[in-house]
Amino acid sequence: MSEFLGKPAKVHTPIEFATPLTPDEQKTSLEFFRVLNFLLQFAPTDPSETALVARVATIGIGAGKPFDPDVLTPQMRGAFEQGMRDAWALIAASVAPSRAASAAPAITDVAIIGGGFAGVTAARELSMRGRSSVLLEARDRLGGRTHTMEHDGHALELGGT
Ligand SMILES: Cc1cc2nc3c(=O)[nH]c(=O)nc-3n(C[C@H](O)[C@H](O)[C@H](O)COP(=O)(O)OP(=O)(O)OC[C@H]3O[C@@H](n4cnc5c(N)ncnc54)[C@H](O)[C@@H]3O)c2cc1C
Repeated sequence: MSEFLGKPAKVHTPIEFATPLTPDEQKTSLEFFRVLNFLLQFAPTDPSETALVARVATIGIGAGKPFDPDVLTPQMRGAFEQGMRDAWALIAASVAPSRAASAAPAITDVAIIGGGFAGVTAARELSMRGRSSVLLEARDRLGGRTHTMEHDGHALELGGT
């Protein structure tokens, strides 16, 4: 393309990708924060999260920061591990009631056909506005044309990302 346009080619810095963790490791391993710091480089801070980002920076979490669990004091290590457990407990608690609610509401506000990006976004938006919805998906998975597969320990994007 650069040759066609008669412009100098862009120089791309090679990216050294972080080794992905297994789903279990993501919930328990402190390596999670090393991967998080790597990924944050590609996720600009939303202005609404500036204060939060500054706060977590004080414990070594931030875009491109090195994170070495082996240099943490036992207290810090314990606090990080407890934080992960607390977070997953909160997530489990917030998912459980919505599943229970969607199982058998007497009257549902909206029926959504298709659990692709549009469908799941509609369900989320309705839920945030206090509306109930039932999502009907023909396949055995959500995501539609966005689909991530795991191959040889690597995530493969087979559709829109
Ligand atoms: C290879 C590839 C790369 C792409 N890259 C990009 C990109 O980089 N950027 C970008 O913006 N977009 C990209 N796209 C497009 C993007 O993925 C789609 O526009 C988007 O995912 C469509 O979402 P959707 O919810 O409208 O539809 P879909 O994802 O198609 O979801 C529709 C869902 O409805 C279900 N369904 C259909 N009929 C019924 C029925 N009768 N009953 C129950 N369920 C039903 C289907 O099973 C499906 O899960 C890409 C697409 C592909 C295939």
